[in-house]
This record gives sequence, C-alpha cells and structure tokens, in this order.
Amino acid sequence: MILDLKGIYKDYQQGKMTVPVLKDVDFSMEEGEYVAIMGPSGSGKTTLMNIIGCLDLPTSGSYELAGQDVLQCKDRELADVRLNSIGFVFQSFHLLPRESALENVALPLIYAGVKKPDREKRAAAALDRVGLADRVEFKPTQLSGGQKQRIGIARALALEPKLIICDEAVSALDVSVQAQVLNLLQELKERLGLTYFFISHNLNVVYQVSDRVGVMYLGKMVEIAAYDQLYEKRYHPYTEALLSAIPQVDADDRTERIQLNR
Ligand code: ADP
Ligand code: MG
Repeated sequence: MILDLKGIYKDYQQGKMTVPVLKDVDFSMEEGEYVAIMGPSGSGKTTLMNIIGCLDLPTSGSYELAGQDVLQCKDRELADVRLNSIGFVFQSFHLLPRESALENVALPLIYAGVKKPDREKRAAAALDRVGLADRVEFKPTQLSGGQKQRIGIARALALEPKLIICDEAVSALDVSVQAQVLNLLQELKERLGLTYFFISHNLNVVYQVSDRVGVMYLGKMVEIAAYDQLYEKRYHPYTEALLSAIPQVDADDRTERIQLNR
C-alpha cells in the first residue's frame, strides 16, 4: 500500500462556526494504481487532495504515506515528504509566466537544494520525458495549453516522486489535447511505475483512465470501486444520477476506445 487514510475528519473554522468538510473518510491506494475521484463541487475533493498531498493536516484520523506516519511528522519533515514523494499537476498549470520551461521545471529542484548544473540537467531530462526537449527556452506565453500542461507534468516529475496528484489536470484543455495529455500520463505511469490520484468531473476521462473510481458526496467517500463495478452497483443516489447520464458501454468497447486514443 502506498497510502492509507483512516477515519479522516477535516473541519474548517469559519468565524465562530465549525464547518465539517470531511466526515470519516477511509481511503487507501496500492502502488501503481490509478484512482479517479469524482463528486460535485464542494464535496471535499480538493480538501482530501490537500491532506493526501501533505499540504494540509486533518482534524483527526490517521494517515500513512509510504509506511510513514504523516501526522507524527514535524513541519520540516512534512515538507520533505511532500517535495520528494509527491508531484502535483493543476488545472491552471501554475507556471511562472516570466520563467522559461526549464526554469519552471527546475523550481522544485531549487527547493530540494539541487545545485545548478545538476538541476538544469535533471529539468532538461524531465522536459525530454514529456516530449518538450525542443522547448526548454520557451516561456509559458509562447506555448499552447497542452504544452503548458506537459511542463506542469515535467515539473511534477522533476524530483522523481512515485505519487502524482492531478486536480482537474485536463479540464482546461480541449478534447483532442486532453487525449494527448491523458496518453502521456498513462505512458509515464507505465514507464516510471507511478501512482495517480486523479480528480476529475469528466466521466469520459475517468472511464478511460482509472483502475478505481471514488465518488465523494457531502464530505464522504460514498463509493469506491472499479468503473465497471460502479456502473453495475451504483449504491449511492448521486452515483446513480452521474452514471445514468451516459449510455452503457461494454468492456470490449472500452479497450477499443483506449487504443483509439493512443
Ligand atoms: P471540491 O474540491 O470537491 O469542490 P473543496 O474540498 O474545495 O471541494 O471544499 C469542500 C468544502 O469545504 C466547501 O464547502 C468549501 O467551502 C469548504 N472549504 C474549503 N476550504 C476551506 C477553507 N480554507 N476555509 C473554510 N472552508 C473551506
Ligand atoms: Mg476542488
């Protein structure tokens, strides 16, 4: 198991009010798994992501990441865990507009204290992995949306983490570019043995890529199952509503679709 969360609660303080956001979430992932998380806006997906990504701590519960008890870590250790074990890919890329592709990708390496010559070599290698070896000197404004997200992915990979967290990573891209970025993520996953925690509101995307799908609703993980299982069982009314919006597709068709998108 790469990560294991048990009984996670997260409250936010809103003036004098306590707002419960995550309510008793149990969630774990095996190494190499591709798990997609769905759920309506405000259901707690980003809050859970922040906890998994060691950007925030739960109010209570337990969290083990790669065998380490995250909640026992000091701030400094937590920052180290985050930097070295987890890569983040965001919907809006979060690139520094005035810096080159190479400098953007090198940013986490600066935080990790990697010296300049080594940093540049490793950032260039990460850009090469996402097919942007010929764009190292380009600024984000000189690149397309798909290229910007590939820089985002290269940056996430710069320190060679095993866990990649994607928050709506392809949502800002148009459909054909989405497919390219999804295929790149899949290829990198196979090549580098990555594990993906992938938040998406797009059922088509989730269907194409995930080993399991988690559905969040009002701060709870109301379902977690392989897509096909989820399609058959759909215990929760929200899942029912979500899935009844699309036509049934069988397993053969799914394989075909994935190949078509390669
Ligand atoms: P999602 O990503 O599923 O849209 P979020 O995890 O962003 O949902 O938010 C879940 C709930 O927590 C929302 O009701 C939101 O208003 C609340 N929330 C998120 N962050 C904060 C915060 N820093 N302070 C107070 N409330 C927050
Ligand atoms: Mg969110």
